[in-house]
Amino acid sequence: MVKAIVGANWGDEGKGKITDMLAQDAEIIVRFQGGANAGHTIVNDYGKFALHTLPSGVFYGHTTSVIGNGVALNIPLLFKELKEIEDRGVPAPKLLISDRAQIVMPYHIEMDALEEERLAGRSFGSTRSGIAPFYSDKYAKTGFQVNELFSDENELKEKIHRISEIKNVMLVHLYKKPPIDETELFETLMGYRDMVKPYVCDTAAYLYTAVKEGKNVLLEGQLGALKDPDHGIYPMVTSSSTLAAYGAIGAGIPPYEIKQVVTVSKAYSSAVGAGAFVSEIFGDEAEELRRRGGDGGEYGATTGRPRRVGWFDCVASRYGMRLQGTTEVAFTVLDVLGYLDEIPVCTGYEIDGEVTEDFPVTSRLERAKPVLEKLPGWKCSIRGIKKYGELPENCRNYIEFIEKKTGFPITMISNGPGREDIIYR
Ligand code: GDP
Repeated sequence: MVKAIVGANWGDEGKGKITDMLAQDAEIIVRFQGGANAGHTIVNDYGKFALHTLPSGVFYGHTTSVIGNGVALNIPLLFKELKEIEDRGVPAPKLLISDRAQIVMPYHIEMDALEEERLAGRSFGSTRSGIAPFYSDKYAKTGFQVNELFSDENELKEKIHRISEIKNVMLVHLYKKPPIDETELFETLMGYRDMVKPYVCDTAAYLYTAVKEGKNVLLEGQLGALKDPDHGIYPMVTSSSTLAAYGAIGAGIPPYEIKQVVTVSKAYSSAVGAGAFVSEIFGDEAEELRRRGGDGGEYGATTGRPRRVGWFDCVASRYGMRLQGTTEVAFTVLDVLGYLDEIPVCTGYEIDGEVTEDFPVTSRLERAKPVLEKLPGWKCSIRGIKKYGELPENCRNYIEFIEKKTGFPITMISNGPGREDIIYR
């Protein structure tokens, strides 16, 4: 059975924790899109980890971790991450890398940073991990698939030359930088080849067989629905689809096999990077939520940047949950809100004097103002509670209010960062 774990919002909803938790009963965990541009924070018996490329199931001996064809594969970072977890006592995970995954090249990273510098104040707030140049090349058909590392070396050199000619136009003329050193790039790729060799296979074929045999497979999404290039807040989006539907493509499995979509949504909002964020809050109010948020504050797992924070947004979340094809919602980080007397919730957007509950296109979104309703807080810690009925009444009312407004069943409530901090409903 295939289950996707994806985000309803802008990312950082706590997908890593939910994946790590659900991986107890899974055999295979697959990353199907994105790259090392966002992190998943996981707190378990081995400590606290920020994973960027490795699937969040790597902490279990019984799971196989798969890097699917849809991933932007940064090979040195993947191996750095592997070494880091092994150095901290995690047994070497069973890892498979798709022979069709494409490689994040050194010039993708360089050009991402150069473009952000060139755009200066108009930048996208990229993490400079090379993701946008990577996916641009993938769809321009100028990318390198992992299997090409194992092809004829002269062919590879010839392709490096062909692609360098294109890249050099931008590097030299637009960014005023030296051209690509083709010999050095070839050597780098040979180094990559040696690193990935033990792990490369046709992961789509492996997964097809595993699914037919009835194995439990988790598809682990990165970022959230509002960062999807088609349905999100374009152009302030990421470059690969963040939707569960893409899991079928980015893992290479039949779409009808995705039976369950667990959409993770946080009890308040946070976002990194630029782009409209209607329920955003500022000043002391924001600073307090940011400091108390997540596990040790709302600061980026990849960049350490302070995340933008705001109240729960029913309009954006309902839209995100709908696009994900949500079958159930995991509602996370609820414990953080215990300090508030009243909790504002964004229930509508006012755009040009009219109130709507439908999530608008970007040009209208930028003019939207939040319509807020205030719910009474519960003013106590809910950590350690295991049963829904034992949550304070106002806390249950908050959950049920959001469930009603968004229209999707909340079946899991996360009340702490650890694996065991979960209430099933
Ligand atoms: P992801 O990218 O969706 O996996 O989310 P992140 O890892 O970037 O952000 C979620 C943060 O919240 C991490 O620091 C988690 O450890 C933390 N977290 C997850 N669930 C909970 C929860 O229920 N309560 C608290 N306090 N922290 C949580």
